Amino acid sequence: MRFWWLGVVVGTLALLWALTSYAAGSLRGDVNDDGGVTPLDALLILQFDAGIIGALPDEISTGESVLLQGDVDGDGNVTPVDALMILQLDAGVIATLPDKPTPTPVPGGDRSLLPLPDGFTVNRSGCSRDGACISRGTVAFYAASTREAVVRETTAELVVMHETCHAHQHRTLLDAGLGAAFDKWATDTEEGQSYVEAAQQETGPWAIWALSVYIWTENFAGQCANYYLRPEALARNAPVTYEWMRGHLP
Ligand SMILES: [Zn+2]
Repeated sequence: MRFWWLGVVVGTLALLWALTSYAAGSLRGDVNDDGGVTPLDALLILQFDAGIIGALPDEISTGESVLLQGDVDGDGNVTPVDALMILQLDAGVIATLPDKPTPTPVPGGDRSLLPLPDGFTVNRSGCSRDGACISRGTVAFYAASTREAVVRETTAELVVMHETCHAHQHRTLLDAGLGAAFDKWATDTEEGQSYVEAAQQETGPWAIWALSVYIWTENFAGQCANYYLRPEALARNAPVTYEWMRGHLP
C-alpha cells in the first residue's frame, strides 16, 4: 500500500488529461500538451521511465514520438534527468531549458520499418497467442514460443520496434541452429559477435559497459530501434553502432 497515493495522482492526471483539449503541441517538455511545462509533465516522464505508463499523453494524442517533447535535454532519451530539468525550471532554479541540438538528416532506416521475418508478428493485444501477458511494470516483451512482439495498442513505436528487433535476433539464432537461446546471440552468432565488436568501440554518450551477454542482446534491440526510428540520434550518440547498423540491417 506504499504507493496508494500514486493511484490518486494517476486518476487525477487522467481526469485532467480528459478535460484538456489538445492543440498539436510543440512546446518542449510539455508532454501532456496542456500548453505549459509543469510538474505534471515531470511526473508523467517519471512514470514513463518507470514503466508505469507505456507512452506519454503527447504521443498518444499526436501519434508522434515521445522524444519530440519529452527529451528535454536533447540526449536522445526520455529519462529522469528530463523530469528534473522541468522541476528545476518550474522552481526557478534554471531560467530556460537547455538548447536542443537540431538533428541533421542522415541516411538510415529512413523511418521505414525493419521487416518482420516470415512467420513473425506484432501482437498488440498485450498477450501472446499461448497466453503469456505483459506483466506489471513491463511495457512489452518478445514471445519466442509464438514468434510475437507482444505490445499494447498504446505502446510507443520505439518499444514496438525494440521488440521487432528481438524478432530479428531470433531469426538469426534460428538460422545458426541455436533455437531461441538469446544468451548465445552475442557470443555464438556472427551477427552478434560483429555487433559487440562495433559497439565496444563507442566512446560517446551512448557507450555502455556491458557486463553480461544479456545486456548486449538488449543493447542491440534498443539501438536497432533507434536506427529505424531516429537515425539522427543514433548517428550523433553512437556513430560506430550507427555505421554497423547501416552495413548489417536492411
Ligand atoms: Zn528487449
